[in-house]
Amino acid sequence: MATPDLYSELLKDFRFREGLKACINCGTCTAICPAAEFYRYDPRKIVDTVQRADNDEIEALLKSETIWYCGECMSCMTRCPRGNAPGKVIMALRNLSIKLGYFTESERGRQVYPLTESLNRNILKYGYCIYPDTFVFEEHPESGPVWKWHLEHKEASYARMGANYKGKGPGALRDIAPEDLSELKAIFDVSGGTERMELVEELSRKKAEEMGMSMEEYRKFTFEHCSDVHFNSEAE
Ligand code: SF4
Ligand code: SF4
Repeated sequence: MATPDLYSELLKDFRFREGLKACINCGTCTAICPAAEFYRYDPRKIVDTVQRADNDEIEALLKSETIWYCGECMSCMTRCPRGNAPGKVIMALRNLSIKLGYFTESERGRQVYPLTESLNRNILKYGYCIYPDTFVFEEHPESGPVWKWHLEHKEASYARMGANYKGKGPGALRDIAPEDLSELKAIFDVSGGTERMELVEELSRKKAEEMGMSMEEYRKFTFEHCSDVHFNSEAE
């Protein structure tokens, strides 16, 4: 399949049109960016690359690690002297990377699969993106021993915090009624969410086959494995 005109594809995304007027390469976005402090990451370079509209360079960007470091906090938008929003440009790049299947080319991009699978499954099944019953402490050791204790004492702990865990009526962590879950599913269907989930799964399955893994092995590997190439501290 011939490579599409990637700049034209980006222009179809309103976030790209809103996020990039003309970059003067001043670097203010990088100076304010919290992600740039931790990752080998420079939003200025991304915006500069994109505005050159070179197909090969944009394709390399879509297959790279760098578009997955942004935390979408939009601090850059508040400071750019030209009114650009690098965070929005990056959202458009991520969207196109997924649409074209390029996201499976990078370690960070491949993490789209475990995140899509777990967060959307929780939303559609429970009505919450993070749900205590599906939170596996061993997969999140960084959450620390206090969180481990909460998970082991869910009922008592949430009751003391004033939540309505699995209860009827209002309150945090209440049971979501089946008709409301059906509405959520309908929103996913009409908004393209279901189609996006299916696409991510299909392309990830292809990559898992290429890597000689079952889907469960791939989910676990992409979720847990993080090489040290991403971080600033490793650069020195
Ligand atoms: S702050 Fe704005 S003008 Fe400056 S490098 Fe970033 S995007 Fe470009
Ligand atoms: S939106 Fe992304 S690029 Fe902008 S400041 Fe936040 S992390 Fe950095």
